[in-house]
Amino acid sequence: MRERLPKETYKALKKTIDEGASLDLKVAEVVANAMKDWAIERGATHYTHWFQPMTGMTAEKHESFISPTSDGRVIMEFSGKELIKGESDASSFPSGGLRATFEARGYTAWDCTSPAFLKEDANGITLYIPTAFCSYTGDALDKKTPLLRSMEAISKQALRILRLFGNTTAKKVITTVGAEQEYFLVDKKLYEKRKDLIFTGRTLFGAMPPKGQEKEDHYYGSIKERVAAFMQELDIELWKLGVPAKTKHNEVAPAQFEIAPIFDTTNVAADHNQLIMETLKKVADRHGLACLLHEKPFAGVNGSGKHNNWSLSTDDGKNLLKPGRTPHENIQFLLFLTAIIKAVDVHADLLRVSAANAGNDHRLGANEAPPAIISIFLGDQLTEILEQIEQGCDACSKEREILEIGVSTLPQMRKDTTDRNRTSPFAFTGNKFEFRMVPSSASISDPNVVTNTIVADVLCEMADELEKAEDFDKAVRELLRRTIREHKRVIFNGNGYSKEWIEEAAKRGLPNISSTVEAIPALITDKAIRLFEKHKVFSKTELCARFEILLEDYINTINIEAKTMVIMAKRQILPACIKFSTQVAESIAKIKDVGDFDVTAQVELLEDLTKTLASFKRNLNSLEEVTNKASSMEEDSYKKACYYRDEVCMAMKKLREDTDHLETLVDADMWPIPTYSELLFQI
Ligand code: ADP
Ligand code: MG
Repeated sequence: MRERLPKETYKALKKTIDEGASLDLKVAEVVANAMKDWAIERGATHYTHWFQPMTGMTAEKHESFISPTSDGRVIMEFSGKELIKGESDASSFPSGGLRATFEARGYTAWDCTSPAFLKEDANGITLYIPTAFCSYTGDALDKKTPLLRSMEAISKQALRILRLFGNTTAKKVITTVGAEQEYFLVDKKLYEKRKDLIFTGRTLFGAMPPKGQEKEDHYYGSIKERVAAFMQELDIELWKLGVPAKTKHNEVAPAQFEIAPIFDTTNVAADHNQLIMETLKKVADRHGLACLLHEKPFAGVNGSGKHNNWSLSTDDGKNLLKPGRTPHENIQFLLFLTAIIKAVDVHADLLRVSAANAGNDHRLGANEAPPAIISIFLGDQLTEILEQIEQGCDACSKEREILEIGVSTLPQMRKDTTDRNRTSPFAFTGNKFEFRMVPSSASISDPNVVTNTIVADVLCEMADELEKAEDFDKAVRELLRRTIREHKRVIFNGNGYSKEWIEEAAKRGLPNISSTVEAIPALITDKAIRLFEKHKVFSKTELCARFEILLEDYINTINIEAKTMVIMAKRQILPACIKFSTQVAESIAKIKDVGDFDVTAQVELLEDLTKTLASFKRNLNSLEEVTNKASSMEEDSYKKACYYRDEVCMAMKKLREDTDHLETLVDADMWPIPTYSELLFQI
């Protein structure tokens, strides 16, 4: 931009980007033209407004730069209007009732704070313009609009705090995010043989292989040749798109890997995470691999998540979650830290729903990273400091001294390099928080919308209080003490997987929300509506729409899973089992024909087979029955979702148990679908 734009235009655009000033159409005109020239020089023929509807995927509608001239020829053109605003048929995207069918238009608006990029595919080269997507009435129909709103909200409130600490230079506070992305790779040919992987992204059947992840020999192990080639190409493809892919390594489970980019402003990080997910799939395909982004592709094997590393920084690059060098800086740091602690404690239900989807139900609270209870890991050192500050109140005479001691130890804080906090859903890692519940397949937008808004809200309350204070220092210390006292229950440095923690958390009154269906109503509580409306992130209407969309998404997911299971069970598993048991029966008869031999082994096998098969068929019948009933239910979507969770999921579980047992009985050559051993160890 700096190279290509006239100085004045560049300055005006920078002002819009940096300070959120409104964009002049004249400026947009010049920018559009420069963008077009830049793109065409690199072979682009089309442009697209790129947006993120509530499916969690991205959407695009390509238009060519071609424009007719009066003399019957064409020129390549791209106007400011075309850059800033697009119109698209929104009727096929979920709106949760926001968009009446008679008003099916949706509008896309340029997000000039996220860089445009070029992408090459079978269509040729296209200029991608990141946009927000909303309805005629201005209701958000996407994941980006609320994210941008929440970024503004937190910037506004954090600036108030900074001003109180005497900072007069910062113009904006930005939230930075680096999302680590976990994924599985399986052989494409094997993948294609499994309808469950194709339709649902996870295995609905599959007995455990003799070797799982017990030995943890995959974790950070050397990367296999084929995967290394994939990763190399992945990096290059991502860099081409402007995504700063940085680290890659093996994960705990066999065939599981991780990629992390360098952190960026939240909306850019969210855009980049979408590109990462898309590119993972595309590049895997070129290498004869399939990339699984599902939260739990394999039962009994670690699932995948995203670690949403989140921090706050000023526009001049100062990380506000980095302990400082002076007591003054440290008090400011401690204030931001305790604001986050309070926000997480008060709005744990919102964080929980921001990480909820059907896939994640298999991870959260299922004896795996991380538990469904929201708690914060701070590490012993920082926890001790907070304890000292809190106690300072009771030992008022010593208060100054204690505070000084606490604060002076801060600069030597060690960055936590061990794995001891791996079980915490919300961990402080030196200069940022890492939210680890985020589902691997979902957009990172929701968790960041929630984090930004809840922290903005607490900062707002704090600023309200401190702005009125006569003695600022005293008021801050008092506020710190009170906040720590009231919200320290959410701090937990121990093992989040342990049974003791579940009991302890219950004693502390922390919510333990174990399923998506249970989590969703948090979006429409009075508390949530007040919060989001106050900071202009969501209107009540938008929240209600999102409540509906989440439920519908859950219902659809389970419905597809159940139907896929039924098809596989009926047309693949059952025939294979019948064939094999007939073979065993025939073998028994034939051996008996020859002489009086001992056929106990065959008989026992046949007994086990037929008995399990009978149970399998009964469970298959029930699954069909409850699925049919569920899909024809006319109750409201919440009741319907509950039915899917309680009845359909249960029936699926039972059918799977029988099937997985059958897998261990049937001749390996006759088993109709690739097994876990093949999927996990053949890449
Ligand atoms: P880990 O010890 O978890 O591997 P890293 O330092 O490698 O931690 O960071 C993991 C992710 O966190 C990366 O995407 C990185 O860019 C991101 N990250 C680092 N600093 C920040 C920050 N200040 N704000 C947001 N994300 C950050
Ligand atoms: Mg991490």
